[in-house]
Amino acid sequence: MKRWISVFIFVSLIAFIAIPSANAHNIRPSNAFRWEYAAYNATYGHKVIRLQANGDNLVANWNNQLTAARANWNMNSDNYVNAVNWDFSSSTVDLATRTTWPVEWGTNNVAITLLFNNGTDITGSSAAMNTVDYAQIWTNPAYNTNLTNYMYRLILVHEMGHVMGLGHPPEGTVSVMTQSQTSWEFPQAHDRTDLTWYYSN
Ligand SMILES: [Zn+2]
Repeated sequence: MKRWISVFIFVSLIAFIAIPSANAHNIRPSNAFRWEYAAYNATYGHKVIRLQANGDNLVANWNNQLTAARANWNMNSDNYVNAVNWDFSSSTVDLATRTTWPVEWGTNNVAITLLFNNGTDITGSSAAMNTVDYAQIWTNPAYNTNLTNYMYRLILVHEMGHVMGLGHPPEGTVSVMTQSQTSWEFPQAHDRTDLTWYYSN
């Protein structure tokens, strides 16, 4: 189970600005999974999560922020995350912009992460699952040009967290994973703590 950190913050007006949700999926703490590509590192004393990410099929505004989004995890995860740029032929995290956005993904959602186990889409599955070995992060074409670079980075950071198995903490939590948050583009202490639960050994 994830550990929730209670932070009493009054939701500010920013929550009511028409900034859409950064996600549209269910990652259930009771069915927590691990990203398969995480190897124990004796120097650090914990696993290092390897994300081999390809953004060739993102539109420019998203793709231009991908390197920075990867770095946000790499530099703020206590060495738990090693996200790298990778060729499409063998990438494990593919990021792409849809040409049309499926209605069932929610018109207000900016991006969605799909999770796969051995070729099967397990996104939202209630079945017990142990590992995810491939992920797709799709961006909504309605937001190809109308977000700030900060928001493009923030949303990419959030979706990458889902790839690692991080779900949504309660509203008000100081976390890049809080749903619809617009305050943090860098992983926070809560996020690092969550990684230790899944990837300590
Ligand atoms: Zn989310």
